[in-house]
Formats: sequence, structure tokens, C-alpha cells
Amino acid sequence: MSNSLKSFAWKDIGDIAKGRPTMGVKMHVAVYRMFQYSLRNVLENKYGKDAIKHILVEAGRVSGIEFCTHLLDIDLAPPDFFDALKQKMEELGIGLLEVVQADFENLIFILTVSEDLDCSGVPVSGETVCHYDEGLVMGILEKYTGKQFVVKETDCWSTGHWACRFHVVAI
Ligand SMILES: [Zn+2]
Repeated sequence: MSNSLKSFAWKDIGDIAKGRPTMGVKMHVAVYRMFQYSLRNVLENKYGKDAIKHILVEAGRVSGIEFCTHLLDIDLAPPDFFDALKQKMEELGIGLLEVVQADFENLIFILTVSEDLDCSGVPVSGETVCHYDEGLVMGILEKYTGKQFVVKETDCWSTGHWACRFHVVAI
């Protein structure tokens, strides 16, 4: 591995309070989606859809690890941890998380996210689009449990569902 490779780190976000004293932390969801879908489109046209799915999952995973490290408490028991995650996701405008099924022993979960930042309201294409979110869940749970996960979005606004549904399994 080359020394020039680096991972996203929480400090890359910078000091928002200092940098945006008037604008603060807020921005419009349209701006986030404009960035994500334009970048995604350019990359897909150049490298192909499958390659970009993997990149988005990996970017989400790295973000999830940092998110968990800096915004959550990994010493909490599972129910409290998921409650804290729910609160944080709502507070940051990511979406409304529900834990539909949780098997803490085998680390198998079904999660839904409604009013999702990435997809709620997008045109229905028949294909799920929340690959970044798959990675985010993967990274958060990896940091929390020390295990690796496979996360698959089965329902999405883009497949005609009102909430995203994620099947989560430890590997
Ligand atoms: Zn979705």
C-alpha cells in the first residue's frame, strides 16, 4: 500500500462553527443530493455502476467508523446504543431509524429508515440507491461490535417503498 493513501477522518470535516459563523451547520437536502447524484452519475459513466456501488459502500463504511467513533458511545448496551443511534440520525437529518428485528446474539438485524436523506422522494427506478447508507450501517456496527457485517438494502424509495429496509448480518 502506498503511503499516499489516506482514509477519511473526522477532522477532515473541519471546524464548521469557525468557518461558517453566519451560515452554521444547515444546508438544503437538495444541495446534498445534487452533489451525490451528479458525482455518482459522472463516476458511473466513467467506471460502471457496479464499481461505483462498491465505492459508495466503502465510503459509507469508512464514514460509519468515524461517525461511531466521534458521535456514539460504544460502551453502551445494545438497546441503548441503538436508541442513541436513532437520536443522532434524527438530529443530523439522516432519517428516522427503526429497529424492526434485532438478534444481538447472532448479530442479525432488520432496520428501516424513513424520510431518508439519500432517497426519500427520488424517482422510482426499480433499483435501490442507498449504497452509501449500507456502508454507513456496516461501519457503525463494525466499530461497535468489532465484527464485520454485510448490509443489503432490500427496499428503497427508488424501488417504490416508503422506507428503506436494510438486512444486516455479521460475517
Ligand atoms: Zn433507500
